[in-house]
Amino acid sequence: MKSLGSIRRSFTPWNDPAAKPYIAFENVTKRFGDFTAVNNLSLTVFEREFFALLGASGCGKSTLLRMLAGFDEPTAGRILLDGQDLRGIPPYRRPVNMMFQSYALFPHMTVEANIAFGLKQEGMPKAEIGTRVAEMLRLVKLEQFAKRKPHQLSGGQRQRVALARSVAKRPKVLLLDEPLGALDKKLREETQFELMDLQQSLGLTFIVVTHDQEEAMTMADRIAILDKGEVMQVATPAEVYEAPSSRFVAGFVGNVNMFEGTVASRDDSGARIASSNGLTIMTKNAGAASAGSPVVFAIRPEKIKVSSRKPANDDVNVAEGEIYDIAYLGDMTVYHVKLADGHVVKTSSLNASRISDDPLSWNDRAWISFSPDAGVVLAK
Ligand code: ATP
Repeated sequence: MKSLGSIRRSFTPWNDPAAKPYIAFENVTKRFGDFTAVNNLSLTVFEREFFALLGASGCGKSTLLRMLAGFDEPTAGRILLDGQDLRGIPPYRRPVNMMFQSYALFPHMTVEANIAFGLKQEGMPKAEIGTRVAEMLRLVKLEQFAKRKPHQLSGGQRQRVALARSVAKRPKVLLLDEPLGALDKKLREETQFELMDLQQSLGLTFIVVTHDQEEAMTMADRIAILDKGEVMQVATPAEVYEAPSSRFVAGFVGNVNMFEGTVASRDDSGARIASSNGLTIMTKNAGAASAGSPVVFAIRPEKIKVSSRKPANDDVNVAEGEIYDIAYLGDMTVYHVKLADGHVVKTSSLNASRISDDPLSWNDRAWISFSPDAGVVLAK
């Protein structure tokens, strides 16, 4: 973990025009009968990238993985791996392995036999199998469990056996379909870091499918957000969160407030927006919005300050309301503030100290305020 941040910060091949993608989906469509599960989708993944496919149930995530693994072929379009068109290449001849959500461990086999299974099938010499299995057991820290059967393990340990088994053959690409779905929250969080460490130490390309946005944000170098078989945005977790490309993405990843409005004026420094609930918004992040156009201003709850005291500069980015709901979550408190027109604004404040210097209670008058770079204008 120590080195993760520094390595990952410099890992941005997608910003390098000379870098060649390792995996490329080119205009891929997949139809089942007359249902289109993946619709003319293009995206690229780089070698050693930890890439996440994020989307609601049924958006086509697993179908993409299955086509890359070779269990399904695209109806149209191409999938390239290291420049080679994968069409017609059977799963076992692709340098790709898939770890399924159910793990599918053999219940009657020991941990080491489970890990050795694929290697035996491949005809690897016995001595080499022994060495490889020992290496894998060390990697996932299960050395002392080698002789146990899956039912004698915890959920987290079973997940690690499945992982060891999927990387034992040293694939170039590991596809993980909801890899942590069966684990409880705390174990999930720990395992996310283990997965990141493992991916780093093996130097593999990981593509993980998840519907859990926090999981995708924690682990991935980049995230593709999918909806109905199409890509909505591909970007780093920070970009997806801070600069969503559309209302859909802003609403899908994290909490957000959306203010409908019209651009009153626009210049190089940003835009002034007349919001439909009476608020005048001044923003530096106006994108391509032009004067007169209808827009949505999106702002995250933690970027809004809530106070019982009226801010000094109250002509822009300030609104008066009433505390409508409070949820104390330990590390932070969520306040819902109802504005004069009935619009409820979500805000959240970190509880950095144990006692607040501005305690707010239900039905209190309160002011919300935010800075000009706190939100973004979305055109679509
Ligand atoms: P989940 O998170 O629920 O696993 P997903 O995003 O992985 O969802 P897919 O499994 O890729 O979704 O399925 C995409 C769509 O294609 C779904 O509407 C599904 O019903 C449909 N689909 C998938 N496989 C088939 C199939 N073999 N025949 C018909 N329809 C299918």
